[in-house]
Amino acid sequence: MPPKKNGFMAFVQDWRNTAEGRGLTLPQAVARCGGIWSNMNAQQRGPYNSRAKDAEIAERGARERMTSTGQLVSTVESQQREAVQQNTQMKCNIERIVMKGKAQYDLENSKFVFAAFNYFDKTKKDGIYTPAEFAACLFSIKSGKISVYSSLINPGQIMFGQSNDAKLHADSTHYLPLPPKALGETDMGKLYINIVQYLRGCQVSDNPNDPLIVFTSTELMPVVKGCFRYLASDSDIEDTEILVYDIQYLFYILKKEVMEIADLKSTGINKSVTDAVFINDYYEYNSGISCQYHEDNDRCRYCAHSLVSRWAFIFSDYMCGDLAIKPIPGKHLPPKEERKFQVISDQREADITSSSFVSCESPERLENKNKYSPTDSTAFAACINKEDDFPTLGGRKPKPNQRPPLSNNFRATSQKSDWNIPSTRRSAKD
Ligand SMILES: [Zn+2]
Repeated sequence: MPPKKNGFMAFVQDWRNTAEGRGLTLPQAVARCGGIWSNMNAQQRGPYNSRAKDAEIAERGARERMTSTGQLVSTVESQQREAVQQNTQMKCNIERIVMKGKAQYDLENSKFVFAAFNYFDKTKKDGIYTPAEFAACLFSIKSGKISVYSSLINPGQIMFGQSNDAKLHADSTHYLPLPPKALGETDMGKLYINIVQYLRGCQVSDNPNDPLIVFTSTELMPVVKGCFRYLASDSDIEDTEILVYDIQYLFYILKKEVMEIADLKSTGINKSVTDAVFINDYYEYNSGISCQYHEDNDRCRYCAHSLVSRWAFIFSDYMCGDLAIKPIPGKHLPPKEERKFQVISDQREADITSSSFVSCESPERLENKNKYSPTDSTAFAACINKEDDFPTLGGRKPKPNQRPPLSNNFRATSQKSDWNIPSTRRSAKD
């Protein structure tokens, strides 16, 4: 272990370079300097102390590099490596699951669980999120949305000093009231047990020790992981591993394989294309698929229940057709809704046309519209032998008792010369 750097040793080092100290060994120099050092005041010792401190920092920096936020570079790098490994592992597992279904000629009945959370707040460093709403949906291509489990969550309190952030987040997204006035389940342990039971019931695997797999959007992956960690920390259940996988990668792989089964060319399919389709959430503003709270507050778009249902509809929309599966409303599509608007009756339209408001759809106009036949504007209808059609061939000559010569007409008057008027109209006028 290298000797600890301190101000006294820095002084000894300097002193050995003086005439008095030259030729002394280190122990001798230390013994002599001890007395001198003890008689020095803080001001005299200052430069030596600060030099020792600088040397200490430089040495530590040489040993291990730090990031600008004070983390060891080696730690950050190993975390990044681990994340890349996990991502690769996840992709392999998703491909394995899909291939397994395909190999059994039963891909349309392969089941997947989609999961989403809304949250109140999050920790800055550890990636733990306080959950506000949970929803999970069991899906297969053949049956569409099979079942949905969802619950509002009241964690009792939010993290200290985060209420402002939490309020801003809630107002701009899910609009759920903040704890302690939050709605829904208050017993986190019980909620976690219920969620695990639901997920366990959805799994096709016979082995109860297999990890539970849920799929969520790339954007929500840290949220879902963070909320599960929050709930798990409050629960007595052990040995339950919930893996959170990327639904967008599943969408890509599944679509590719479905097209292959259907003997369609899948060469045009890539992750960017399927991601664009997935993010373009066509059912975003559909009502009737959210929880009651979000339905009542018109925030269906952010409802976790609605989100997992919409994912099921997007998957169905892009895959049922390839496999000739007839989409069923409520399963593959949003359920049929009763109209909340009034359709203006045909009688009213008839009234409009017969009223004084005739400029757009008067009976004559409607009649003419039906009779309309396009004219060929490229064909030239004039007669080459008629002087009127070709003023340059003599048509500029004034006719008796008519307008003055054309040259006078060119004084930017409102009167148009003949060659400016279509030949058809001209002949009628003439
Ligand atoms: Zn909701």
